[in-house]
This record gives sequence, structure tokens and C-alpha cells, in this order.
Amino acid sequence: MVKKYLMTPGPTPVPAAVACAQAADMISHRGREFHELFQYVSTTLREFIGTTREVYLLTGSGTSAMEAAVANVMSPGEKALVVRSGHFGNRWAEILKAYGVMVRAVDVEWGRAVNPKLVAERLAEDTAGEIRAVFVTFVDTSTGVVQNIEEIGGIVAETNALLVVDAVSGLGAMDYRMDEWNVDVTLSASQKSFMAPPGIAFISMSSKAWKVCERAKCPRYYLDLRKYRQWAEKFETPCTPAVSTLRALGKSLELMMEEGLANIYSRHEKMARATRAAVTALALRLFPLNPANVLTIIRPPDEIGADELRDHIARNYGVTLGGGQAQLKNRVVRIAHMGSVGPFDVITAISALEGALADKGFVVELGAGVAAAEEIFKET
Ligand code: PMP
Repeated sequence: MVKKYLMTPGPTPVPAAVACAQAADMISHRGREFHELFQYVSTTLREFIGTTREVYLLTGSGTSAMEAAVANVMSPGEKALVVRSGHFGNRWAEILKAYGVMVRAVDVEWGRAVNPKLVAERLAEDTAGEIRAVFVTFVDTSTGVVQNIEEIGGIVAETNALLVVDAVSGLGAMDYRMDEWNVDVTLSASQKSFMAPPGIAFISMSSKAWKVCERAKCPRYYLDLRKYRQWAEKFETPCTPAVSTLRALGKSLELMMEEGLANIYSRHEKMARATRAAVTALALRLFPLNPANVLTIIRPPDEIGADELRDHIARNYGVTLGGGQAQLKNRVVRIAHMGSVGPFDVITAISALEGALADKGFVVELGAGVAAAEEIFKET
């Protein structure tokens, strides 16, 4: 038997207490116990999103909340500006097109952050104010890049357009301030930094977005947020939610509040720094230029395919790492450090990487990466 370690950028490892919460007896989604759970989850999520607004709980993966965002603030034939900086930026464009929205794109080289000035220029060119919303990804998990939402928010707030942010990656592990940064719609999901199984997505909207929502003409039924707003007054959802996943998320949030937001964020910063130091010590190339703290993306040596390396690590060391997506397929390996991660997770992943490179005949000093990570962990 090879002991398994999950180090993919979602789903992430689920702590035992969270898994146990999911296994508890089923409860009615129209009863008092559920009302308490709903209230706890939706109000606690506000702290991570950085909003005083209501947070709505959807049953679905992160993409369902992306789709909800589009369906609730856009009308067919309207224009939207998409920052296309990775696989999930492309997804914004695809969903918008599916709803009949005209997509204008700011295309960004994968691995780089968008220069917010480009967004400002595109909005300034739009003198008729036809661009109704700007769609951005906080951390595009395919490139590992974090975008400067604060600066983009300041720019979009000067216009009538809305700022919609996919924070499926990064939220819960990195500082995020929806209200302060002038974000109109923020969405995320349960299975990454929130350490819960997949199945719950959530979304919050500013009053500017709600005004648009009232007159938006995209078809919507299951994802009609006006219904979620009505039902939230009773601490319920319009349809039967994934009750067990919600219980798991409730437990995760308890653990996260015990640790405290500042401590969670600094832990992730340390894991990221240690992982980057380790791969640099192994003379591996980092992919993104301004990496987020939730994952480290590396380019393996040219002589070996990234997927071959990943597969070797999974089979022989039990460590599952993420692969490249779309244009990065078979070119990069993604080491996640989001959610329930500590120093020994990083050390395990790095040690497996060193071993696999040596197995494949590359000259590596065994322990060099681990030592570099340990140096970071030794810092107080
Ligand atoms: N956005 C980002 C940045 C993501 O990383 C993901 C999932 N990897 C999604 C959206 C889509 O989420 P899901 O797979 O939960 O639908």
C-alpha cells in the first residue's frame, strides 16, 4: 500500500472533524437546526469575503456561482469586459457567451497579472458606457497568479460598470475585502481553502449589483438570486441544499475562526514561501511571475513531461499533485498549499519531488529542497 497525500488545488484535504460533521444524522432543511447552521455559515463567510452584505449558499460547484453571477447581472446583447488571464478567465468568457452577452477581452499572458491600467483604458474607450460589467479571477488556479483586485476595484467604481470576481481560489487563504475594494459580486466554493468537500458555492452582491439584478434579462430559475434573498430571510434556501456538505463547511468555518483570519493568511504565506524556496533550491523554474499563496506552479526539466513526473510521484510516493490545464497541459506541475496544510505537507511534497527527479536520472541533491523549506519554517 502506498499512503496517499492529496496536494491538488481543489478539492483539498478534508480534516477528520469536518468529515465527521458531514457524516452526522441528516436534518430537515426547513427546521431549527438547519436555520442555525445557515445563519452561522452565511454570517461567518462574510468575514472572509470582507462584506457586510448577505452571503447566499448555492448547491453546486464554483461554476454554478459563476453562472449565477452572469445570469443575475447581465442581459443578452449587453457587453462585458473579461480579464482573460488563464483557464478560469476563459470560463468567464464561455459562460457570458452562453448567455448571449458580448464579450470584450483584456488578454493577459498566462503567468502574469493584468496591468489594471489596461482595464482603465478599455473602460475609458467605452464612452457610451456599454460595458456593463468587468469579470476578473482573484487567483486563476491554472496560472497561480493573484490579480490586484483592489486597484481594479478602484477603477471600475469610477464607472457604472460592476466588478465581478471569481474568488474560488484564494478566498479563505488570502486577505480579501469585497466592500473596501469596491467589488460588486464575489463568489467562491467549499472545496479549496475552506477545507470542505465540493458541493457548496456561495455568492454575495453589493447594492449596486442588486439594482442591476432587478432588471437583468438573462433567463434564470435555479440560480435566481432574488429567490435566494427571499428565502434567506427565513435562513433557508429555495430548494433542498447539500445539507451534509453544508454541515461540513460549518465545521470548517469553526476551525478557521478558532485559528483566526490573520493566522490563516500568514500560515499560507509561509507555506508558499517555503515551497518556492524549496523548488528554487532544486533549480526548478517557477511558472508565474506574481504567485499567489495558495499554490506553486513549476516547470519540470524539459527532458521530462510534467504529467510523466506527476504520475511517477503519485504511483511511487502517493502524492497527488495538480497537472497543467489547457495551454499548460503537460508543461507544469501544480503543488497546492491551500486549506488544511502545514509544514509537513510541504516537506512531503518536496521530498517526493526530489525522489522522483532522482529516480528519473536528474542530478538532484537529495534533501536540498527540504532543507530550504525547513529554513523558512524555522523563522518565527
Ligand atoms: N474558478 C477557479 C479560479 C477555480 O480554480 C475553479 C476550480 N478549479 C473554478 C472557478 C471552478 O470551480 P468548480 O470546479 O468548483 O466548478
